[in-house]
Amino acid sequence: MAADFKAPRGTFDVLPDAAAGYARFEHAARSTLERAGFGRIETPPFEETELFTRGVGGSTDIVRKEMFTFEDKGGRSLTLRPEGTAAICRAYVEHGMHKLAQPVKLWHLGPYFRHERPQAGRYREFNQLGAEVIGTDSPLADAELIVLLADLLGELGVPELSLRVGSLGSLDTRREYLDELRLFLREHEGELSNDVVERIDANPLRAFDSADEGTRRVMTDAPQLIDRLEPADDEHFSAVREALDAAGVGYELDGALVRGLDYYTRTIFEFHCGRLGAQSQVGGGGRYDGLVEQLGGPATAGVGFAVGAERVLLALDLEPPGPSTDVFVALGEGAEPQRALALLRELRRAGRSAETDLAGRALRGQLKHADRIGARHALILEADGRAQLRDMQSGEQREIEANRVLEEL
Ligand code: AMP
Repeated sequence: MAADFKAPRGTFDVLPDAAAGYARFEHAARSTLERAGFGRIETPPFEETELFTRGVGGSTDIVRKEMFTFEDKGGRSLTLRPEGTAAICRAYVEHGMHKLAQPVKLWHLGPYFRHERPQAGRYREFNQLGAEVIGTDSPLADAELIVLLADLLGELGVPELSLRVGSLGSLDTRREYLDELRLFLREHEGELSNDVVERIDANPLRAFDSADEGTRRVMTDAPQLIDRLEPADDEHFSAVREALDAAGVGYELDGALVRGLDYYTRTIFEFHCGRLGAQSQVGGGGRYDGLVEQLGGPATAGVGFAVGAERVLLALDLEPPGPSTDVFVALGEGAEPQRALALLRELRRAGRSAETDLAGRALRGQLKHADRIGARHALILEADGRAQLRDMQSGEQREIEANRVLEEL
């Protein structure tokens, strides 16, 4: 049968087997972050468009090309959120969180939307876990977030992980550096890809990200921001690295690391998984010391990370979950169907998972169904309160009193 409707391109349905993976991800995230004193926050799935144009930055791919923007019935421009940090900072200011004890530590998990070219690990709707530490510029906060993300990915069992860290310095340093980089790129215009040349003015940093071979060759000699840091930023970055060393978290120093959002200052980092092919980044983040102020709040430092649930689940290549039904209650010769429901309730109250036939099958069909759903036992009800308890793996079967099933299991 050809379906009349499909989930929109780049989106997907989460079916029960996959939902189990998401539940595991959420459970691990919650336990890692709440043990570290983070409180959960959730913001709406859409915001005023200007929050993102101002917060994320008008020159970024996200704002230029990837936002799902629409007008509401009152003529206001709204956008499905493409990232989390701007909205968390909006909430921090809106709820006067700068008056709380600082820093404020928050975590969040939910859907995000970007109009990207869909491929494995890259969707138009995806789920991100984020953690933010707002109200401190301590390098320990940067290091702690990196350590927490390393621990979370480790606990989940993400294989072949690597960590890259870099520093972007202050916005002023970056401005000066960007002018230097633009000059360098102009000098090599002939060897660069068109896409990079087109963006020399708007976003020259993306040249470091280019897959184009000629561009890559040029970029090996490009000036690096990491060599232009002001002493205070350099010191901050050293302190982050020393804290990582002390915590025993290995990393690669990457002077060419750039991220797709304008608000980053100082530390940036990315975790990659060798199993993931082209979209290998499982998570990343950095410091955004100017963002709260940029959004109209008081000058406030902040740092955070985001990790994509789908990328993690892809990296884990999760096996389908094992059997989830302890007992399948089947109706045999002479059994009263009403008794099945009372028994199911009793089993479930005792903490067992239990199901029964809802399709009017004959006994043989019921047992086949029990097998298909991976039930461990079948309880075959018979006349006069008698029953057979069948081990679905071995096929062994013995007669019991139906109301003693809990003791017999
Ligand atoms: P970003 O907000 O771009 O720094 O992305 C943070 C994390 O979100 C990435 O490391 C990915 O795990 C995930 N992510 C970003 N964009 C997508 C996408 N289009 N589809 C799936 N996951 C994504």
